[in-house]
Amino acid sequence: MSEAHHQPHLTKWIILAIVLAIVAAMFAPTFAMSFAIGGEIFLRVLKMIVVPLVVASVMTGILGMGDVRKLGKPGLYTVIYYLATTLLAVIVGLVVVNIVRPGLSMGEEAKAGVAESKRPNEVLFEHLAAETGLSDDAIAKTFGDSDYVERKDRSMGRIFRNLILMLFTDNLFESAVGTQLLPLIVFSIAFAGLLTTMGDGVSTLKSFILEANNALMAFILLIMRVAPLGIFCLVAGRFGQANANGQFLAELSKTGWYSASVLIGLGVHSFITLPAILYFFTKRNPYRFMVQMGQALLTAFSTASSSATLPLTMEAAVDEAGISRQSVDFVLPLGATINMDGTALYEAVAAIFIAQVVGADLSFAQQVTVAITATLAAIGAAGIPEAGLVTMVIVLTAVGLPVEYITIILSVDWLLDRFRTTVNVFGDACGAAIVEKSMPAAEPVG
Ligand code: ASP
Repeated sequence: MSEAHHQPHLTKWIILAIVLAIVAAMFAPTFAMSFAIGGEIFLRVLKMIVVPLVVASVMTGILGMGDVRKLGKPGLYTVIYYLATTLLAVIVGLVVVNIVRPGLSMGEEAKAGVAESKRPNEVLFEHLAAETGLSDDAIAKTFGDSDYVERKDRSMGRIFRNLILMLFTDNLFESAVGTQLLPLIVFSIAFAGLLTTMGDGVSTLKSFILEANNALMAFILLIMRVAPLGIFCLVAGRFGQANANGQFLAELSKTGWYSASVLIGLGVHSFITLPAILYFFTKRNPYRFMVQMGQALLTAFSTASSSATLPLTMEAAVDEAGISRQSVDFVLPLGATINMDGTALYEAVAAIFIAQVVGADLSFAQQVTVAITATLAAIGAAGIPEAGLVTMVIVLTAVGLPVEYITIILSVDWLLDRFRTTVNVFGDACGAAIVEKSMPAAEPVG
């Protein structure tokens, strides 16, 4: 089956599309911006399919196991993998930011700029509402409440409580409408688990789910045919806009050492840490694996959203990297929502950077608090553009840093977001390859 689906030239076309789009954005920003609508259409089509895909694929993954009790071992490994790699990413980030010390080269000028800017939440909300297309309310909800600046509400207990509550919904349809994937995944696991115990009485329902999943995968292949075009429009539109607003090179150089720290950290994690882990557990060539996942990684860079990339991640993992459908169905939808190595690393770097800028000397214990809250903040971040910036408030308030300093890093976030999203998706893909080793043999279903 994988032979028929193999699309060897797709990655090359996508690379070409990104290069052309950046060139267009550099030299003719206004022209480039006119492609934004094409990018928006592509994004909508990807997002459109995410909810049905997550439900159908998670259910198929569970049905394929034949018995929900067999979930124990792979489930445990998946959670351990998510947590361990996220923590490792945070540690890499902390080491890099403590060596480079980007905050020390940041002048008084930047600090003055923060003081006179608007209240941080207004700035953040306007910016994030524009970037993510969510309402202010929905953004505030990411924190679990709208009182998020209140320090007393940011205790660890509260953060944990909100994270646990994120798993459950009182209305499945509302979750589907809001693309809140976690409660849908929890429901799908429980529901499909139940189906595995009901025998022949529900065989039609089971085949319906399997067929729906197959059909959705076929639909993704269709979307992939236009992926290079969609990606060209997305990148041309966004980079063109950034260039037209003078947001590009000037901003990048203003926060140069900070951006460099984030990029160095992400580089270490994706070219050294994750490859080492992948090789250790699967003996796969990690760099070959990276190339196989190329279309998904480039789409992650172009969309800045792990959720929107999910369809292509799943397709590449099965058809290019040859990971079993069962592992892919089980590990990737969950990973796209909660496993965010790049985001965690970025949150840690940004928090310490801000501490350096304000001249706060963080103790070892406070750095540990940063590490833990950065991990939680990354788990809590949705797989949408710049969600990590929203949940960063959690990290800053946990160690008593001023939230308004987020405005310093606001202007480059759209760009750094792309890199961390790419790392998020690569982390998920490695997870699927590793957990595959612990999957029980697939059972015939239907
Ligand atoms: N955009 C990231 C993602 O979708 C989340 C973030 O770090 O903002 O994975």
